[in-house]
Amino acid sequence: MKRSIIIVLALLFLASACARPRTVQKTETIMGTEVTVTVVAPSEKEGAAAIDAAMAEIRRFDDMMSLYKDTSELTKVNLAAGKHPVKVSPEMIEVVEAAARISDLTNGAFDVTVGPLAVLWQMRLKEKKVPTDREITLARSRVGYRNIVIDKEVSTLFLKKSDMIMDLGGVAKGYAADKAAAALKKLGIINGIVAIAGDIRVMGKRPDGSPWRIGVQHPREADKTLVVLDLSDKSISTSGDYERFQIVKKKRYHHIIDPRTGKPSEGLISVTVVGDSGALVDPLTTALFIVGAENGMALVKELACEAIFEDEAGRVTSTEGIPIKK
Ligand code: ADP
Ligand code: MG
Repeated sequence: MKRSIIIVLALLFLASACARPRTVQKTETIMGTEVTVTVVAPSEKEGAAAIDAAMAEIRRFDDMMSLYKDTSELTKVNLAAGKHPVKVSPEMIEVVEAAARISDLTNGAFDVTVGPLAVLWQMRLKEKKVPTDREITLARSRVGYRNIVIDKEVSTLFLKKSDMIMDLGGVAKGYAADKAAAALKKLGIINGIVAIAGDIRVMGKRPDGSPWRIGVQHPREADKTLVVLDLSDKSISTSGDYERFQIVKKKRYHHIIDPRTGKPSEGLISVTVVGDSGALVDPLTTALFIVGAENGMALVKELACEAIFEDEAGRVTSTEGIPIKK
C-alpha cells in the first residue's frame, strides 16, 4: 500500500515538472548581427544545450557563406571566378538554388551576383561619396546570376566571368534560421524562436499554448511597431532602409541595390513577408523591396505568403492575412 502511494506521488511530481517547461533565451553576435535563440525546454540545462547547438549551426553557415571571411566557401568560389568550379557543401548549392528561384521569379531584381555593385556602394558611402555613373555602369556589367553554374551532381559552383562577385547577404540569414530551427528539432525542441536580425523562424507555441507574437518595427519610429503578428511554424523576414544606410548630401542610401539601375532601390522603406521557409522569405523581401508593392503582390500570393509594405510616403499595403493597424 505504502509503496503504491509513493509511486503515485512520484508520478504527480513528474507531471508537475513536465507541465511547467521553461523558456530559455540567449543572444550572440554572429553573421555580423544580433542572433537571439529562445527555446521552451524541460530544464534550463537542456534549453541552454539546445541553444548552443543552434548557435553553432548559425556559426557554421557564417563560416561557409560570409563574404568577409578569407576561408569561407563563398570566398573560394569568388576567387575562382572565370577560372574553375569549386567543390562546395550541399548547403551552398541549396542556398544558391533558393536564390536563383527568386531571381527567376523577379526577372533578376534579386541577384546574388550583385557583389560588384554592393562592394562599390559600400566603399563610396564609407567615404561619404556616391559612385560615379561610369563606376556604376562598369560594376553593373559584371552582374548576372545566369552566369552562375550549379553542378549538383558533383556539388560545385562556378562563376563564369572572372570579375564576378557572389554576395549571399540577402539569403543566408533566412536559410541559416531554418537550419538552426532544424538543429533544435533534432534535440527535441519543438517550441522556440530563432531570430537572426530581421530573419526569424518561429517554432510551435509559447509555453501557455498560445502562438508566439512577433512585432515588426516601425521603419521610422524605433519604439513603435508597424504590426504585431501571431505566428506558429512560420518564417518572417523584414527588409528595411533603416538598419543599414548612409546619408550623403541629405539623401539616404541603403544597402539593397536594384541591379537594373545599379543604385539603391527607391519607393519602399519596409517590406515584411511571412511564409513557409526562411530560404524563401529572406530573398523574397529583398526582391520585393526593389520591385515594389504593386508589382510584388501577385508573386506574394503565388508563393502562398503574406506581406506588408510601407512606402516613402507612409502608405501601408498588405495581403488579407495581415490586418493593418489604423
Ligand atoms: P539585411 O541583410 O539587412 O537583413 P536583406 O535580407 O534585404 O537585408 O539583404 C540585403 C543584402 O543583400 C545586402 O547587404 C547585400 O549583401 C545583398 N543585396 C543587395 N542588393 C541585392 C539584390 N538586388 N539581390 C540580392 N542580394 C542583394
Ligand atoms: Mg532579405
